[in-house]
Amino acid sequence: MVSPFDNAMKQLEKAASTMNLNRDIYAVLQQPKRVLTVSIPVQMDDGSIRVFTGFRSQYNDVLGPFKGGIRYHHDVSLDEVKALSFWMTMKCATVGLPLGGGKGGIIVNPKELSEGELERLSRGYVRQLYKYLGPTQDVPAPDVYTTPQIMAWMLDEYETLVGEKAPGMITGKPLVVGGSAGRGFSTAQGGVYCLREAAAKLGLVPEHTTIAVQGFGNAGSFMAKILSKAGYKIVAVSDSKGAIVSETMSGLDLTRVEEHKTFNGSVLNFPGTKQISNEELLELGVDILIPAALENVITEQNAPNIQAKLIVELANGPVTPEADVILHEKGILFVPDILANAGGVTVSYFEQVQNAMNYYWTEEEVLEKLEKIIVTAFHEIWEIKERYATDMRTAAFVHALERVGEGVKARGIV
Ligand code: GLU
Repeated sequence: MVSPFDNAMKQLEKAASTMNLNRDIYAVLQQPKRVLTVSIPVQMDDGSIRVFTGFRSQYNDVLGPFKGGIRYHHDVSLDEVKALSFWMTMKCATVGLPLGGGKGGIIVNPKELSEGELERLSRGYVRQLYKYLGPTQDVPAPDVYTTPQIMAWMLDEYETLVGEKAPGMITGKPLVVGGSAGRGFSTAQGGVYCLREAAAKLGLVPEHTTIAVQGFGNAGSFMAKILSKAGYKIVAVSDSKGAIVSETMSGLDLTRVEEHKTFNGSVLNFPGTKQISNEELLELGVDILIPAALENVITEQNAPNIQAKLIVELANGPVTPEADVILHEKGILFVPDILANAGGVTVSYFEQVQNAMNYYWTEEEVLEKLEKIIVTAFHEIWEIKERYATDMRTAAFVHALERVGEGVKARGIV
């Protein structure tokens, strides 16, 4: 079993040696500041009690409150949550947000729970952890299989416990309880800005560019739709049941694919497509590959077979450190997760800012601010990549570590 945290630490080590990071700062960043494990008893609809295990890893908060989503998945582990909280630390820092990094999770398959059970589980998670959460402490958000509705239940539970309104304690909320315009598709939108900048560097034009998207969830489906509207050809998509590729390698009609998935529970059997596996999708002869599902999908085993010229990592941790080396040697450009999917947390930050002002921006204003942050970070990281003759991931880490390192020093921790 590949450990996401081991992989995260290998990435840290590579960046630390590239930039010659101060040894004391490096030592501080090799473990989370605090990890919490809780058990959450939930009354199921049949009256029985089931006890779920939940985690929150608070990695680093020198730049601001811990920030990061909560994942509901049967494979969640403390190791994974720790890795994800480290990546959140790097993500917020590399795009310049005044936030630290955290992440949470519950070991559960949410598809097996009724709505009532899901609500009781979500409220139970907050009851166990509320003392460690809050707008100035630690601010959760959606992640894999968690939704705006779940954020609203968590907010309600938190506010009930602390006895006051505190909308900035969680982000990714429904608009009516203090959510931000644009948050629903902001992870995808940030990925689109990155893809556009990277495609320009490679001279790829939308009409002649084919794309495969692994994962048709919140991030992947929005990104596919936005790119398709912009003229790119999305020729293959997938979900947890399998993948489809256009028989003629022409662009799929994503609105119809989405309707098909809603109706049939999967993208499979969409007319005009051939069924392949999720693994085969990654090796298709497309120009751009977008992993938008889970960790460790591109490894040293399949990296030699990747044909895309550009990879935009919408998922967290989809490429292992060993695969990074192979992709870099093959001349494949990759935009790392901590930059490519930073649009989500950036609009989460805007959500908190709006909550604090109690005044809300239009979607247009949000997107204009998002574009500026992502595009600026992309070019700063590109410049670091050139300066150190390294890959984009290492450059993004170097950028983040410069900021976090300065914070560690300014606070007198080292
Ligand atoms: N779960 C998202 C991520 O991995 C968003 C986190 C947030 O908005 O705090 O970046």
